[in-house]
Formats: sequence, structure tokens, C-alpha cells
Amino acid sequence: MTLIDSVSDDAVDLYADILEDVAHLLAKKDVEDARASLAPIAGEQWAVRVPTTRTVTAGTRTADARRVSARSRAEALIRDRFRCSRCGGRGVPRCVLVAISDVFPEEFPYDRHYGRGRIHPAYWLLVLEADHTLAFAKGGADDVTNLTAMHALCNTQKADALLDELSLRNPLPERPGWDGLLTAYPGIVQAGEEVGSRHASPRYHVDWMRRFGLSPVG
Ligand SMILES: [Zn+2]
Repeated sequence: MTLIDSVSDDAVDLYADILEDVAHLLAKKDVEDARASLAPIAGEQWAVRVPTTRTVTAGTRTADARRVSARSRAEALIRDRFRCSRCGGRGVPRCVLVAISDVFPEEFPYDRHYGRGRIHPAYWLLVLEADHTLAFAKGGADDVTNLTAMHALCNTQKADALLDELSLRNPLPERPGWDGLLTAYPGIVQAGEEVGSRHASPRYHVDWMRRFGLSPVG
């Protein structure tokens, strides 16, 4: 286990590159090569205390966030091409990372409450939340037109300290063709059913595949 207590300016790209390889190998049922690709970041656990004032993360949702339907959140991520509106970096829906954790529960830990020391840093750095552009409480609309995709970490006050100098002035370059690893998602879910353990209800991945317009494998 490696406790991660700081974020480097190339962390988003590093995690995205590695998890892209892992995802596509799992989709091909190549579990052992996927494990080898994951090795550089395997066993990492997030140890930073993140103030949750603006966070829309699982387990720490504000009342505001609960009003957003899962369907609208999926639509916002697709519309924003799985890119963070704050730092410009690549992102993924949380369900895709949960599917990877299902295959590799030790190497790529997931905790649905985002407990410090129990979850891989990629969940903070890569998972895209769909947050209200204008707060619902301030009269913002309650549909996809008022949602913006943002990394979980970029959507917190912590990001002010961690990311302002790094990313806001130099947005990460767009990667044409980036699909949030959705193409690989059904295959990863199937790999998890064959070799892994489950972190969510049996319906969880089926429901998210449907929201993203995907069909289960097999
Ligand atoms: Zn970001």
C-alpha cells in the first residue's frame, strides 16, 4: 500500500494513460496484462483531507446534488466529452473505475464513502461529477443545461490550493477521441463478474450502461 498525500501536475494524464491501457486490456479479457499495466499505480490510497464544501461526491453529496438525476449526469458527461471544465483534463464516469476495482479490489481500492486511506487517488483525480453551473438554491435550472462536468477534486475547495497554479493557467490539452473509457466499460464489467468482487448492487453497472447507451456483454 502507498499513501498518496500530494498531487503532481501531471497526475491526471498519468492516471488516464495507465487506466486507458488497463481498461482496454480488461475489455479483451487480458486480466494478467491489465494487472501488469496497473502496477505503477497499484495499491495507492488517497490520504489527503478534502474539504467537501462544494463536493458532489458519493457519500458526501449536498442536498443540491441529490436533485440531479443519474440520467442528466450521464448526459452532461457525454455532452462535455468526458473533459473537466476546470482543468481541461480527461475524466471518466465513476462507474467505469468501480468496474476496474471489481476486478482488482486490492490493487485499485474503492470505498463508496471516499474514506481517506481506503480509496485509490484516481477516484478523486479522474472521476467526473456533474455539478450545477448555477446553484439550484440560487435559481439554477435542474436539468442538463445547468450541469458542468468536473473532476471530483477540481470540484472542491481543495482544488484552489492544489490546482490553481498548475492547471487553470495552462488547461490540459484535449485528447481527440477520448470517450471516458466507455467503449471498454461493458467488457470490464464482464471481466469483474468472472474474476473479481462486487462493490455495488447487481443492478449498478446494468443501470449505468443503459444511461450511457451501452449494452452488457454476453
Ligand atoms: Zn479537473
